[in-house]
Amino acid sequence: MKNYHTHTFRCKHAVGEVDDYVQAAAAKGFTVLGFADHTALPDNRWLYMRMGRAELPGYVRAIEQAQGTWPGLTILKGMECEWASEYHSFFEDVLLGQYGLDYLILGCHFFPHNGDWLSSHYEVHSAEHLVSYTRHLIESMRSGLFAFVAHPDVFGLSYLNWDKNTEAAAKDILGAAKELDLPLEINGHGLVSRWVESDQGPRPAYPWLPFWELARDYGIQVVVNSDAHKPALVDEGLAEGFDLVRSLGLTLANMEHLEGG
Ligand SMILES: [Zn+2]
Ligand SMILES: [Zn+2]
Repeated sequence: MKNYHTHTFRCKHAVGEVDDYVQAAAAKGFTVLGFADHTALPDNRWLYMRMGRAELPGYVRAIEQAQGTWPGLTILKGMECEWASEYHSFFEDVLLGQYGLDYLILGCHFFPHNGDWLSSHYEVHSAEHLVSYTRHLIESMRSGLFAFVAHPDVFGLSYLNWDKNTEAAAKDILGAAKELDLPLEINGHGLVSRWVESDQGPRPAYPWLPFWELARDYGIQVVVNSDAHKPALVDEGLAEGFDLVRSLGLTLANMEHLEGG
């Protein structure tokens, strides 16, 4: 088993240190465990759900110290990032350059709308907001910094019914993923633990099935991750995610290039 999306206590809404996740993954027979905690940002924005600048060295050190401690388990150092133009050089020069991270993943938890930053989890409840989310996600994808896109359909948490707006958003995102050859993530945590009620019935908030049915038509590549926020859930939703990939006939991305260091 492989997982490229693992958090630590530093983001303030996960528990456990690097070693706790490593031990859980080793016990479950993982071959690859990639950490991608919510990144520090140069201006310490949105600090309530991410590590601060001061925690960055300790995060990297904890991963580096764990590397090589379990035979057969490759441990990778990554980060889940909110892209904005003002952060681009920090991600490129500091995270990838100075700290030598193996990869960055795009996690778009906020998007600009009429001069404010809104939550991709809780504030995509209108067509206008969905357009702004989609525009920002695609601009972030085009930065060229990211190995894959975490939960691209996270708008399903607050935009409740599938309609022509979600279909248009999905097609724009999928078209960009295809053009950029950028894999999209099927999020195991969402699949198992983040369900919503809507007029159309109960469903996982994300992955949202119609999005991934369309994905099949676009021939994009997918990656299945747990998005673990607790050591015991290091494999959350992986089996279910791979079932979804198989049942829809989606194409799994080969992520082995991330292991090259
Ligand atoms: Zn998180
Ligand atoms: Zn996320």
